Amino acid sequence: MSSAASAPVLDSSTPLLELRQVSVSFDGFWALNDLNLSLAPGDLRAVIGPNGAGKTTFLDVITGKVRPTKGDVFFRGRSLVGLPEHRIARLGIGRKFQTPRVYQNLTPRRNLELAVSRRASPFDLLFGRLDATARDRVQELLEVVGLHPYAHQKAGGLSHGQKQWLEIAMLVAQDPQVLLVDEPVAGLTDEETELTAALLRQLAGAHTVLVIEHDMEFIRDLQAPVTVLHEGHVLCEGSMDEVQSDPRVIEVYLGSETEAA
Ligand code: ADP
Ligand code: MG
Repeated sequence: MSSAASAPVLDSSTPLLELRQVSVSFDGFWALNDLNLSLAPGDLRAVIGPNGAGKTTFLDVITGKVRPTKGDVFFRGRSLVGLPEHRIARLGIGRKFQTPRVYQNLTPRRNLELAVSRRASPFDLLFGRLDATARDRVQELLEVVGLHPYAHQKAGGLSHGQKQWLEIAMLVAQDPQVLLVDEPVAGLTDEETELTAALLRQLAGAHTVLVIEHDMEFIRDLQAPVTVLHEGHVLCEGSMDEVQSDPRVIEVYLGSETEAA
């Protein structure tokens, strides 16, 4: 044990991100109910669950948008509960929302320059001055997401999938340790969906990546452990094959499909 009482103890057994018995009540309705989840550095994790399972609320609790009614959220051994969203983001937890939020009138390169240079002065930004390291980083990110051939056209003209990848690159530009990605392949073509799975697999390792999705083919393609949420609780965890053959999962999904039909 460390003798420094104020510093959290960090060793290889400390999860990077941990939710401990988290519950969230919205006026008496429990959107999350005793949720436990733990991620190690570099993990890639898929979270699935029928509509209303609590998936988005679960991300809201990590990013500080929603405060847990009970339980605690730890990042690198420190509680995040009560911190404002921008502080949590700055600690290294980045979130990709469902709809892309890129500057349509700027090129992918310019979008990325702005994301990379959050720490540059407004004066430098105004005159488009970036140091060589930042320019290299922008080029590298363009290549990682396959947008280098489109670097100089307006982002507004990109396909929906390309805009999603640009936004993922803008998130990565800020060097977060954790990437939270909510339904990245909704509305994408099959080919774009496959490329998105490959991209997220590539980003894991250097980052901890948590992906929420409905698309089962995509989840299978991620080749990552799957956590199934149901009624705000972890129903089961395992490989895609394991969870798909779990009778509880089948029942939950068949139940929700019958309702939706
Ligand atoms: P998912 O993303 O898995 O579809 P959500 O986390 O969005 O589920 O929602 C879980 C449950 O909590 C749903 O029943 C939803 O209606 C409810 N809920 C979510 N946000 C609020 C809120 N701000 N106020 C009241 N109920 C909410
Ligand atoms: Mg949702």
